Amino acid sequence: MKSNEILIVEDLWKSYGNHIVLKGISFNVREGETKVIIGPSGSGKSTLLRCINLLIKPDRGSIVFDGIDITKLKSNISEIRSRIGFVFQHFNLFNHLTALDNVALGLIKVKRKSRSEAYNIAKEALLSVGITEDLWHKYPSQLSGGQQQRVAIARAIAMEPKIILFDEPTSALDPELVSEVLNVMENLSRKGMTMIVVTHEIGFAIKVADEIMFMDNGVIIERGDPRSIIFNPKNERVKKFMEKLL
Ligand code: ADP
Ligand code: MG
Repeated sequence: MKSNEILIVEDLWKSYGNHIVLKGISFNVREGETKVIIGPSGSGKSTLLRCINLLIKPDRGSIVFDGIDITKLKSNISEIRSRIGFVFQHFNLFNHLTALDNVALGLIKVKRKSRSEAYNIAKEALLSVGITEDLWHKYPSQLSGGQQQRVAIARAIAMEPKIILFDEPTSALDPELVSEVLNVMENLSRKGMTMIVVTHEIGFAIKVADEIMFMDNGVIIERGDPRSIIFNPKNERVKKFMEKLL
């Protein structure tokens, strides 16, 4: 293992009944890298991220995170998961908690921070995604989708994860709110956060991806630097998909 490889996914398989959803996925992520995953609906992108975040268990293969094969974990699951941030398509904030409480909760419950320390960290994280003090005490329903997603990103950042997984973070947003979330993600990437991002936002991918992996039917059918995958793909399936996106 190279010392700067934070995640090594090797020959990952997952089935639901007799439907094989992941068919031998392998890739590595180095510290500071941003990987973008693109692929049609149903190709297994969310399943892959959910395996990495221990939300589901793969049938075969290994996921070595920070030197530990997390598919074999029997204990410490919540500690490991606290070091892997996850940002969902539908934000997944707690609706009965304010923005600030949403961000502070994991710090208090999982990281065992004191309340005052947790709230200081949470405020800093919210400011870093452009959520200003006037919004801290609002509930998710009182925030726009873009603000909610930025709170969700702040919640991930506050835990100081080694990597953040984003599952189509802007696909539930009204078009005019997409860029405020992408800008936050671009900043994070530039600051050196390690990220895996499932997205069809081509402009974002060109700007920040170190590599694009194109998934189809449980397989990474093409991968490489963003410009070659987007503008000059070799695979016919990828070509057709990109023509529709561009
Ligand atoms: P993507 O995120 O690329 O759209 P998913 O990983 O969500 O793809 O799903 C891949 C396939 O696995 C789909 O056909 C989906 O219906 C199926 N699938 C996902 N989760 C489950 C589940 N819990 N039970 C059964 N089938 C599932
Ligand atoms: Mg999905």
